[in-house]
Amino acid sequence: MFERQETVEAIEAVAAPLPLVAATITETIAPLQGSLGEAWDRVRRRLRAELGEDVFSSWFARVEIGGLVDSVAYLTVPTRFLKSWLEAHYAERLQVNCQAELGAVNGVILSVRQVSRDSAPAPVRETVAVRPRSAVAAPAAASTEVRHGEAATPCERDIVDACGTLLDRRLTFENFIVGKSNQLAFAAAERIAAAPAGSTPYNPLYLHAGVGLGKTHLLQAIAQEARRQGKRVAYFTADRFMYGFVAALKSQTALAFKEKLRGIDLLVVDDVQFIQGKSIQQEFGHTINALIDAGKQIVVAGDRLANDLEALDERIRSRLGGGLVVEVGDLDETLRGKILGGRLAALHAAHPNFHVNPDVVAYVACVVATNGRDLDGAANRLLAHATLSGQAVTLETAEAAIRDLVRTREPRRVKIEDIQKLVATRYNVSRADILSERRTAAVVKPRQIAMYLSKALTPRSLPEIGRRFGGRDHTTVLHAVRKIEKQITEDRLLHDEVDLLKRMLQE
Ligand code: ADP
Ligand code: MG
Repeated sequence: MFERQETVEAIEAVAAPLPLVAATITETIAPLQGSLGEAWDRVRRRLRAELGEDVFSSWFARVEIGGLVDSVAYLTVPTRFLKSWLEAHYAERLQVNCQAELGAVNGVILSVRQVSRDSAPAPVRETVAVRPRSAVAAPAAASTEVRHGEAATPCERDIVDACGTLLDRRLTFENFIVGKSNQLAFAAAERIAAAPAGSTPYNPLYLHAGVGLGKTHLLQAIAQEARRQGKRVAYFTADRFMYGFVAALKSQTALAFKEKLRGIDLLVVDDVQFIQGKSIQQEFGHTINALIDAGKQIVVAGDRLANDLEALDERIRSRLGGGLVVEVGDLDETLRGKILGGRLAALHAAHPNFHVNPDVVAYVACVVATNGRDLDGAANRLLAHATLSGQAVTLETAEAAIRDLVRTREPRRVKIEDIQKLVATRYNVSRADILSERRTAAVVKPRQIAMYLSKALTPRSLPEIGRRFGGRDHTTVLHAVRKIEKQITEDRLLHDEVDLLKRMLQE
């Protein structure tokens, strides 16, 4: 009946326990625990001395340490804003100071402290927690709650899942606009959310796409819909998963973390590419395997194909890739127009004087070609412009308002496969030739150019590129990249040709 109560019940209504690996890992960090708090105090003193009292108390006073695992320090903060601010401005300083006091630290991960039944909840969260389920889940309440970019009160906005993660009520299936590039993902997501507890239509579902194309939106929608139907759902971002695990280790309740998960029906993990650290990856792998074997539904999203998640263990990759894998493609102009339209309508509902005429919407949807995040940004800017100037939005004011968004937009996500196809067409060979073992000059040159372009235009590592070129070694890729780099400085024609290929791929 009550959220918090429900969580406890979910945890206690347990069947067979999950296999435990955490016990062994606890030992590897146990000796640190006693001194960790003291070491963290020293880090704080250093920061205070370096930055001065004002800066320290504004940004660092509420940072806490959760643990240190596999040379990664896990820090927590109370708000999302503080997390992004610290990441943007103080990531390096935090790392350097942690290194100085905590020993070998090669990474710092910040996460927002989550609502937990083990810790004293914040007053607002408590309000959420005691709200009767029917009020939280009423579809009518959800559909009025579409004020994107608006500071709705936490009570209105937040729903809590079975592990205390806040879900964003704006990100629902109703608010998700379906187009060619995402219809498969949407259909799979809806099907999973609607399936009765215990049935797993596609397990696991793995969604992948570049930034801002709607992965988080779909995952949140699945979590909320499933929860509305009474399923026990745990939604984790990578950092929350890592933090949850580390916090459990720290308080020596690694068991409890697993216990939480064993009572659920659906596990949703977002941004899996950020899961790092050997023990945690191991734990993640065990969790996924155990839950799938226990007939629980798993949904995971990442920014690349499961097989390209280099940091993850081979077996986890193949497990993730072994279910239903769906890519969410780029948003076409029609879809962008509709997403922007939806966002502007939501803003209009909250600001009745704010109107944007269809010409302007069409213009913005045409030039902001990147992703949903930039469309959000554009909508917020139009609103800010209109509010500050007190004038209606015209094409000219819109252009000025979003100018920097258009200029700084990220280049299109280029796929290695597209590079191979384009280069093959240009040089009259087949893509299979490029991937093959053949070493004739007619094939070697396009292959090397394609490798060079893959390095230049994608974030893929050399070994990854090698794998995608018929399982070649990374030294072969490096050789190709160097060779083409050198040749384009010497050969004007080749330079222009490669340049043209680059532009075609990025458009
Ligand atoms: P990702 O997780 O893939 O980086 P998000 O899900 O955070 O992307 O999407 C970025 C923004 O774009 C969000 O505000 C989201 O609601 C919006 N968005 C993306 N795709 C759609 C869609 N098909 N319909 C409605 N909004 C969308
Ligand atoms: Mg996301």
